[in-house]
Formats: sequence, C-alpha cells, structure tokens
Amino acid sequence: MRSAKELSARLDAARRQLDELTDEVARNDDIMQRAQQRELCLLQAADLDSLFHALIDGLRDSYGLEYVSVVLCDPDHDIRHLLLATGSPVEDVPNLLMVESLTGLAPQYTALHRPWLGAFAGCDHQMICPGADGSKSIAMIPLTHRGKLLGSINLCSSDAARFTRDHASDFLAHLGIIASYCVENVANRARLLRSGFTDVLTGWYNRRYLTVRLGEELARARRDQAGIICLMLDVDHFKRVNDTWGHVAGDAVLRELAQRIESQVRASDVAARYGGEEFVVLLPNTEASSAKLLAERIRETISGAPMDLPGGQTVTITVSIGIAGVQPSPADDDLKTVGDSLLARADVALYAAKSAGRDRVIVAAAL
Ligand code: GH3
Ligand code: MG
Ligand code: MG
Repeated sequence: MRSAKELSARLDAARRQLDELTDEVARNDDIMQRAQQRELCLLQAADLDSLFHALIDGLRDSYGLEYVSVVLCDPDHDIRHLLLATGSPVEDVPNLLMVESLTGLAPQYTALHRPWLGAFAGCDHQMICPGADGSKSIAMIPLTHRGKLLGSINLCSSDAARFTRDHASDFLAHLGIIASYCVENVANRARLLRSGFTDVLTGWYNRRYLTVRLGEELARARRDQAGIICLMLDVDHFKRVNDTWGHVAGDAVLRELAQRIESQVRASDVAARYGGEEFVVLLPNTEASSAKLLAERIRETISGAPMDLPGGQTVTITVSIGIAGVQPSPADDDLKTVGDSLLARADVALYAAKSAGRDRVIVAAAL
C-alpha cells in the first residue's frame, strides 16, 4: 500500500506534467497561428512590390530578426522590368538582390533542396546578405520554380542558437513553398497586366483574353467530351447611373459589380469584362442547371444590396443575364465559329431577358 504522502507527490508530479503539456500545446498553437498569418500576408500581396516587402520587412518583423534578404535569379531581367512597371525599381527595395546566376554566390546553392540552417559565415554569406555583419546564424529557404532553384529567402539572427542544424525546418520549408508560389503567381499577374489581356478598370481579363481563352477551353472540351457554359451579363439602365451620378460613380459601380461577380465564381471559371458594362463568365465542366443557379446567385448578390458611390450616396443596380452552352463534337474543326455562335446565343438570351423586363436570367433555347 502506498502512503497518502506518496500518492499526493505523484499527483503533484502528474499535475506539473499536465501544466507543461498544456503550455506546450499553447506555444505550438501560437507558432502555428503566427505562421498562418505570415503566409496569409504573402498570399494577399497583389503585386511584386508588396510581395517583396512582405517577404523582407514582413518576415524580419514577424520573426523578430535583425536582417532578411531575398535573392532571386532573373537572367532575362524579366522580374526587374515587371517591378519597374509597378513604379518600384529593384534598387528601391532594400535587401532584394536580383542576380543573373546563383553560381558562386553561396556554397549552399549547389544543393539547396530544403532550408539550410547553420552558422553565419561572412565568407560564405556576405554576397547573399550584404550588410548582415554581426549575424551569427542563418536560415536559407529555397525559392523554386518547377523544381528549379530560383534563389532564397535568407533569415539572419545575431543569436547563434537561433538557426542551427538541429532545428526542425518544416515550417520554413512550407513557408518557402508558399513564397515560391506567390512569386510565380504575382509575376504572372504582372506579365498579364502588361500584355494587354487585362481590363484596367476592374483588373479582370478583357475581351481579347476571353477570345483566346474561349478557343483553348473549347479545344479542351472537345477533347474531354465536356460542355462549356457562357454567362453574358449586362447592367440594366446603366446609362442612368452615369447620367445621374457621373462617370466616376459609374466606374465605381463597375468595379464593385466585378467584385460581387468574382465572389460567386470558382477559380476555374473565366470571368472577363466583355465591353463597357457587359461581363462574360465561362464555366467549363458545368451543368446547365447549376449554371442557372449560379447566374441567379450573381443576379441576387448584385441587386440585393446597394452600392456605395464615391460621393457618399448609394445606388441599387440590377443586371440581366443570358446563358448559352455548347458541347463541341470531335467533328467540330472550326472552333472559332463554335465560340462565336456560343457568344451570340448568350447575347440573344440576354436581350430576351432585357425585353422580358430586366433583372432576370434567361437560358438560350438549345442549350
Ligand atoms: P440596358 O438596360 O438596355 O442595358 O440599358 P443601358 O443604359 O445599360 O444600356 P446602354 O448600352 O444604352 O448604355 C450603356 C452605358 O454604359 C453607356 C456608356 O456610356 C456606359 N459605359 C460604358 N463603359 C463605361 C465605363 O467604363 N465607365 C462608365 N462610367 N460608363 C460606361
Ligand atoms: Mg450594354
Ligand atoms: Mg446595359
């Protein structure tokens, strides 16, 4: 039989252990939440300039580090030009190093498949971290594109124990994957903005892009024996908005409208500003019935709440939507005609919606 004293001591020890475990769970939860916030900041960066700031200043502040740099291999000066187009020459982004090649910059670049954590050595790291004198440890997180090393995010600390070989680096590896994806994504977006496929007012694809993309989607649908649905949407009595509140207010309405439509469509759908106050959404692999439901949701999300105008007033607008669909057969070798006819039938349905009184969805007869 154990004495009461012994049992009480055991109970105390168990309580202490439980407290320690509870603390550890809370600490891990905190680390996880902060990591998620950092990743969210990166994912929310809308252009290259804000992404690099989120990577350099943002990571430095949130990790409480003395120094962070980003090295990116940009042999064709592609990213540099895109950055310049946003009004931020690379020289204006502190600790961003664009290089022609990674060769000879740091010994770790020969095999940087995962984050490298260890002692900071001036001779090894000064070229990728100029100005990081006094650093004692470093984490080099690889940035990659399709498995190829593009560069690294370099986190430097004056604490020698901050980054050592013994530290788990899974969080950093994950961060590197997200950051690589963000660089690619934001660079692609910047390329698109430059290439004339984007509408400046809404940031959406424009009609030119839609035409190209429709051809690609039809080819894919023909190969996969799948259908494509086209929603064509036109603002009702939009001229009145301009006439009553002015063109600036009209522009604000179009931007808000685009955002409301965007909130309803999937990433795989193709949404474009087709003309002045006309928008098109292509829905690959979609049933007519779910397209109709989506169109109704879009219509309701637009008419359901008034929009704020720059002058402080509000306006409620409605839209009419025409729907048409097509399933190209293997025998269809003229996809341009198939695409034109799809758009034309959606347009006819749209005008039927207008004639029937507006603020409604009409599906073309032969879907
Ligand atoms: P309906 O219900 O028949 O579609 O009537 P509506 O007034 O919307 O149609 P209409 O085609 O007569 O007018 C469209 C207006 O949209 C005319 C044009 O000045 C305006 N518009 C086109 N592009 C823009 C733009 O980028 N900004 C602004 N503010 N207005 C635009
Ligand atoms: Mg119109
Ligand atoms: Mg209109």
